[in-house]
Amino acid sequence: MCVLRFGVLIHHDKKNNAVLIPGPYNVPDTIRKIHTAAFVADMHADSLLWHRDLRKRYTRGQVDLPRLEDGGVDLQVFGVVTKVPKPINFFINSGDTDSLPLLFLASWRSPATWFNPKERALAQAREIMQLANTSQLTLVLRKQDISAKGIKGLLALEGMHAFNGEEASLNDLYSAGFRMMGLTHFFDNEIAGSVHGIDKIGLTELGRALIPQMETLGITIDLAHASDVAFDETLDLATKPVVVSHVGVAGTCPGSRSLTDDQLQRIAENGGVIGVGFWKRAICDVSVKGITAAIRHAIKVAGVDHVGLGSDFDGNVTTPFDTTGLPMLTEALLAAGLPEEDVLKVLGGNVRRVLTTNLPD
Ligand SMILES: [Zn+2]
Repeated sequence: MCVLRFGVLIHHDKKNNAVLIPGPYNVPDTIRKIHTAAFVADMHADSLLWHRDLRKRYTRGQVDLPRLEDGGVDLQVFGVVTKVPKPINFFINSGDTDSLPLLFLASWRSPATWFNPKERALAQAREIMQLANTSQLTLVLRKQDISAKGIKGLLALEGMHAFNGEEASLNDLYSAGFRMMGLTHFFDNEIAGSVHGIDKIGLTELGRALIPQMETLGITIDLAHASDVAFDETLDLATKPVVVSHVGVAGTCPGSRSLTDDQLQRIAENGGVIGVGFWKRAICDVSVKGITAAIRHAIKVAGVDHVGLGSDFDGNVTTPFDTTGLPMLTEALLAAGLPEEDVLKVLGGNVRRVLTTNLPD
């Protein structure tokens, strides 16, 4: 039974978090030098979900600590997934079904997590705390942690349905280490509407009450997966920079989950950052070229101070490379004629700026 449980998980991990071209990836030394010196930040990877020992190097999935080091990554935002409808539909889902009990059972997590989104969030937070205590990883909780040596990790909640409808969950999840929160994931919840939801509503009363509280605590608001109405309503209320942690841009890859030029401009006005994704629905062309094209479009519309990376590694997506391939992106951006200082902003400078602004002292 034990072997079978793990077998199911490993099979899914391998199949669903695939890489088109496996490493090692060849990049000239001059480029690698620039990349290594840069502060590189990726705003979204769901690596915690799969219950790998991230201290070890795996041949499956797209992120672990040894590979983050090879990829020159300074900061990895770890998304925490707590409920996924079954079957998943990209355009319209209710929150009535849940495909995750089996995964939490198969990964031998406590029975409390099997059916409870908040418990799933708290369990994954405990796991990254444990990882930080037994590895080089620094968990980012305050401003100063951003400048810690080595690889930093930041905990992000993917969908505030994990509040289980309770305002008091904000403090519980903040205390557990969460410093970024996406309003929604695949369905409308008690906080806001999802772009994949049924009614795709705006902010609820609870959502409106939580936005200023999140800003006061130093939690960065993430508008990835938010409905168009929730996106606008949040930006009307926001007094701090927000992020769209992992997303596509309609200019190179149209679709309901891609940001229109108007939305890109709204993020720029807010002072926030757009994290360009690496998967099919975000870039259409799953290649270094496709990512580069999306980044260039976002820069053209929003300006170079508002564009960053949001791979969605380990998020049930196939990507052109794993995290060790990031230097190829530096190479491609420079080859596209972007000045080095602009490349540094996109690689992570902008994300560092926003987090430094928002995080508590
Ligand atoms: Zn996502």
